Formats: sequence, structure tokens, C-alpha cells
Amino acid sequence: MDPLRLPLLESVFCAVSLGAVVLDHERRIVLWNAWMVRHSGLTHEQVIGRDFFAVCPELRGGRVDTAIQYALYNNFPSLLSQTLNKAPFALYLRDERIQQAVEVTPVDVQGAPRHCLIQVSDVSIAVGRERLLREQTMVLRSQTFSDGLTGIANRRHFDVAMEKEHRRAKRGATPLSLLMIDIDHFKAYNDHYGHQKGDQCLIQVAGALAEMLKRPCDLMARYGGEEFAMILPETDVDQALLMAEAIRARAQELAIPHERNTDPSQRVTVSIGIATQKPETPVEIEALIGAADRALYQAKRNGRNLVAALLPA
Ligand code: GH3
Ligand code: MG
Ligand code: MG
Repeated sequence: MDPLRLPLLESVFCAVSLGAVVLDHERRIVLWNAWMVRHSGLTHEQVIGRDFFAVCPELRGGRVDTAIQYALYNNFPSLLSQTLNKAPFALYLRDERIQQAVEVTPVDVQGAPRHCLIQVSDVSIAVGRERLLREQTMVLRSQTFSDGLTGIANRRHFDVAMEKEHRRAKRGATPLSLLMIDIDHFKAYNDHYGHQKGDQCLIQVAGALAEMLKRPCDLMARYGGEEFAMILPETDVDQALLMAEAIRARAQELAIPHERNTDPSQRVTVSIGIATQKPETPVEIEALIGAADRALYQAKRNGRNLVAALLPA
């Protein structure tokens, strides 16, 4: 054999930019490359010839241990992905633990019992990119479900929640109430105070009314324009009336001036339509929304700054 070949092979083994470790049949460390020295802080002298699990005791009994056994005694290679095996080796780059993909491969040596090669690749960049993508997805998802102006749930969120609560009410035979809340004479408000003030008013009213909900299953959403919808699960018509009356009063208490309101308070007021689905007579979602809309229309017709309730048919 070319006398240069062995030292060359060893140099190449040391030069590769991933961690490489070779164990013999007794799981003693035969080779430990420069990359491993650099990132583990352990020199060749500290590891060569020693039992692998004496050097890396935290790996004993884990997936790397199993993979080594498979390679040495069953001639079976393993690939340990980063997702299932969080950075098993204590390897660091600038004080940060390196994210790792680990491959354990059986190595047959002529005239000697089988060895195994452990390769450790640094997948920190991919992991970081994945984390960033996941975070961005979460932000985007929360944005798709909230209204850009008021920050409360949007129409899409309402639709999803309504489906869920409607199903839950049917299954559990519980009442379900829906409130449609609409600001009175809001077009006149915009005309008089300007669109920007109108936006401010929407933000203030939405925030104050959404704060009134205490149970996690309740939801207030911006249904459209200056109209809000409230889903109140397990709420019968009497409870819904109480809630709606409290909301109507709260809106008026905000004391937002509205000179063009027909209401004598001359403040921003809301009208509210209620529809309640009784457990014994479930209806389609459209029928519930339709009834709440009609109840709202009735409240408007009766003079505004009022609450009206209808049973869905
Ligand atoms: P009613 O008492 O019958 O509800 O009368 P209204 O004027 O409130 O009802 P209408 O539906 O005629 O007008 C709603 C107004 O709400 C018209 C629209 O300009 C305004 N509006 C809808 N969305 C927004 C918004 O995002 N910002 C502002 N500033 N105004 C909005
Ligand atoms: Mg209105
Ligand atoms: Mg309206």
C-alpha cells in the first residue's frame, strides 16, 4: 500500500467539516476528528481508547446508544433526525449548543470485529430557519383571525367559532345565543366628525365591549363595518337579554359625543338584536344569524339604543 495513504486518510478524516467518531466493537473510541475536538472541547488524548459512554455519559440509554448497538451488533445503519433527538452531543459553537443530525453506520474492517462510524452534522441553520418560519406562521395565523382596525376577532374567526359552538350546543343539548350589535347612526357620525374619528370610535367601542366577555368560550367579532357579533354559548334568552342590556348601557357609558345621534343622550349608542337557539329546537346557523339580524332591525325601528330578542324559526 502507498505509505502516504494512511496519514492522508487520517488528515482527510480530520479535515471534514462535520463530526466523525469511530468506535470499535467494544465501543471504545478509535478516532475522534478535529471538528469534534473543536466543538466538544475534548482533545484526542482525553478520548482515544476510552469507553464512548465514559466520555459521553449523557448518551447512555438514549437513541444514540441504541443506534450504536444496531450498527455494531446487527450491522444496521441509523439516521437520527434533529426533530426527534434534540442535540444529543454536548457540542457548542460560540457558547450555543449545536443542533445535530446524527448518523451511525456499521464499518467492516478486514480481520477485526465490526466498528461503527458516528457522523454529526450541524443543522443549526436549518433549525433556526424552521423556527423563524414557525413563528412567522403563528403571527400570520393570528393576523388572519383578527380584525386589522380593532384587533378583535374578525369575520373569519366568527365563522369558525360559530360552526364549533353550534356543533357543541347540538351535541351537548345546551342553549346558544347570538348578539348582533350595531352602532346607531354611524354614517352620520362619520359625516360629522370625519372618518378618522369614526375609526377611533370603532376601536374604543370594540375594545370596551369585548372586555365584558369573561368566559373563554364567549367571542366578540367585528362582523362588518360598524357591526359586531357576540357568540354566547350555554346562554339562554334571559341571560342573553341581561348581557345585551349591560352591553347597551356600557356603550353609552363610554360617553363618546355624537351630536347627530337621534338619541337624547347625544352620545354614541348601540342597538342589539338577540337570537337564542333552544336545546330542544336546534336550527341552522343561517337561521340563527337571520333571527339576530331581524331582532336588530326591530331594535332600530323601535327607536335605537335598544335591545330586541327573537326566537329563530
Ligand atoms: P343605523 O343606526 O341604522 O345603523 O345607521 P348607520 O348610519 O349606522 O348605518 P349605515 O349602515 O347606513 O352606515 C354604516 C356606516 O359605517 C357607513 C360606513 O361609512 C361606516 N363604516 C363602516 N366601516 C367603517 C370603518 O371601518 N371606519 C369608519 N370610520 N366608518 C366605517
Ligand atoms: Mg349602524
Ligand atoms: Mg350597520
